[in-house]
Amino acid sequence: MVHIDPELLRTAGPSPYRNAYEKGYGRLKFDGALEGEFQVSYTEGHLVRVRLAAYLIIVLFAAFVAIDIFTLPATVWYWTVPIRLGGIIPAFVVLLYVSYRPSLHAYLGRVVYGAAIVAGLGTTAVIGAAYRLGTQIPYEGILLVALFVYLIACLQWWRALAANVVTLVAFVAMEMLYQRDVQARLYQIIFMCAANAVGAYGGYFLEHSARTMFLINKLLNELAELDGLTGLANRRTLNIHLDRIWRQALRDQQAVAIAMIDIDHFKKYNDRYGHAQGDAALRAVADVIAHYARRPLDITARYGGEEFAVVWFHPAASELPGMAEEMTNAVAALGMVHADSEFGKVTISVGVAVLTPEAGQSNADLLRAADSALYEAKHWGRNRMVVSTIAQNR
Ligand code: GH3
Ligand code: MG
Ligand code: MG
Repeated sequence: MVHIDPELLRTAGPSPYRNAYEKGYGRLKFDGALEGEFQVSYTEGHLVRVRLAAYLIIVLFAAFVAIDIFTLPATVWYWTVPIRLGGIIPAFVVLLYVSYRPSLHAYLGRVVYGAAIVAGLGTTAVIGAAYRLGTQIPYEGILLVALFVYLIACLQWWRALAANVVTLVAFVAMEMLYQRDVQARLYQIIFMCAANAVGAYGGYFLEHSARTMFLINKLLNELAELDGLTGLANRRTLNIHLDRIWRQALRDQQAVAIAMIDIDHFKKYNDRYGHAQGDAALRAVADVIAHYARRPLDITARYGGEEFAVVWFHPAASELPGMAEEMTNAVAALGMVHADSEFGKVTISVGVAVLTPEAGQSNADLLRAADSALYEAKHWGRNRMVVSTIAQNR
């Protein structure tokens, strides 16, 4: 089993991916929407491998057609060639077609499943046809099909198992009906069961590891984008996002607004109540602030220490002071006792700036304006908001 480093789990904080890992997925299924997310990533991630496997199968079965024609009596290849050419190869051509049509990718898993069953039953039928006509052709091909389905086709394990069980049942029935050599029949059935056991065992751990890798990727991605303490975006994500919407705002001539938020007297809060309670206060303030990014292009972030930022794309400028005011009141309304503050509770100061970008301006101008508005809010007595007049160019 692949394990996730406990250190990574600890730093990850609360996360649906961490919960999924801790809950376990011994039955190879995640809960709810996560399963769908995994399926999409699994299909897309294995697309090239499935495609190459399909090409390989087509080439191999085309070669078998030639071998049949050259080595088997016409009465036998009269049956085997149509099965290969008319059944197995077309199933993999359909699979290839679906793999090249992104709009059909949702069906790819089912198409691979269907192709696996066609390959298994088709190969069984080829061997059966030969036995029935008194020719011994190598049955080992069916072992390859089983291992292919478990290990290379990137089918979900349950589907691979189902496709192989169907094939195994058909194979045993075929041996009973047409294999005249009792000794050979016994060996062939035993080897086929063994190939299934080996394939199912390997396939199970392949999929289990793929699921673990999926969770690791997601956790690392979260770590890179989010602040571990508050779950808000981190400063790096904020900067990337701000650069992006700044360019869009310049193109569309829309405004961008930012609120810089700083907790008042937070050093004293830490000194009196301890770092752990300081962290809890940071989380509580972050939860309030998180409500103020309401649209897809808005973002709330922890800017650093006890400072936060909210960025709004194309805000209604007239509503900004009201929102900043509301945010300030909402934090005070949490009523977190702070005996060393003149307000008796934890409060924030907010500096807001809004700007419609013009060529030659950068978002640093906007950040600077919001910073000086914040400085003013501190200067005028804290627990308040100030809207910058510097950067307001329209
Ligand atoms: P002001 O009202 O002027 O903003 O004063 P302040 O004390 O809030 O500002 P200052 O910058 O002096 O202190 C910020 C404090 O925030 C210092 C540090 O102890 C605390 N702090 C920064 N990051 C964290 C953190 O992650 N957890 C905790 N508990 N405290 C933090
Ligand atoms: Mg500060
Ligand atoms: Mg502060």
